[in-house]
Amino acid sequence: MVQRTDAGTDLIRLAWPDVGAAEAEAVAEVLESGQLTMGPKVEEFERGLAAACGTEHAVVVSSGTAALHLAVLALGIGPGDEVLEDAAGALGAKRHGRSCGSLGALACLSFHPRKIVTTGEGGAVTTDDAELADAIRRMRHHGIEPRGGFEIAHAGLNYRLSDILCAVGIPQLARLGELFEARTRIAAGYTERLRDIVETPSADERDVHGWQAYVIQVDGAADKIAALREQGIEAQVGTYALHRLAAYRDQGEFPGASRVFERAVALPFHTRLSESDLDRVAEALTSLVSK
Ligand SMILES: *Cc1c(COP(=O)(O)O)cnc(C)c1O
Repeated sequence: MVQRTDAGTDLIRLAWPDVGAAEAEAVAEVLESGQLTMGPKVEEFERGLAAACGTEHAVVVSSGTAALHLAVLALGIGPGDEVLEDAAGALGAKRHGRSCGSLGALACLSFHPRKIVTTGEGGAVTTDDAELADAIRRMRHHGIEPRGGFEIAHAGLNYRLSDILCAVGIPQLARLGELFEARTRIAAGYTERLRDIVETPSADERDVHGWQAYVIQVDGAADKIAALREQGIEAQVGTYALHRLAAYRDQGEFPGASRVFERAVALPFHTRLSESDLDRVAEALTSLVSK
């Protein structure tokens, strides 16, 4: 349902997960099956993810953050080590022809509702390394060995993703190409309208942008976000600079991160945006920038 703003215009939402009848039917099937977790939908979703990323293994977990946590534990990373394929928002994207999710020893995905494929909440670790995959499987499930007995050699966690949520992800993944095309089209619509007004996002020539979000660079991001929101356009912080958050203060100067944080604005970005929605966002931005 479309919400109205105080000014009487329709609210243009930041995100609108592209889920429908297929996902509802898949969930109903799981609810009737009697197996709500650790069942066939988990394995089916994992096979689909591995195929989509071009990796041997995919292990689903309860969120992108859980994936990152287990990845760090599985790799034995400690202070001073250099990390990271955080591909949480990059399903469908490519780097020099290779799918994101298959670029490093392992990669972390998220299925949060703002991502291209969503399960409501969820995440995954993708890898070609069978030992790493087993370590992730063990740690997401209390430390129990995947094919082993009931002995627990190392304490684990509970970061499992239920069959109910995997059932949502399977039809989503089947439509990855379609979802990706729709997002690419909307991104192009924004770029066409905004390229002369603000810095628009792009990918290097040999890469494919994943379009998890449409983030522009413009001076005074915080003011622009507030002004857009006043007009019923749900813009959002484009990216955070960790060292500017209270939890991570006093770790040094990071001028590049600061500059991007001060200039990055995420615009409403989802498959239900119409041409007239894009016009409204572009007109609002144009008048804000020319002020
Ligand atoms: C979404 C996202 C996360 C967090 O994922 P959650 O599923 O919300 O925990 C981490 N890193 C990146 C790059 C993301 O896009």
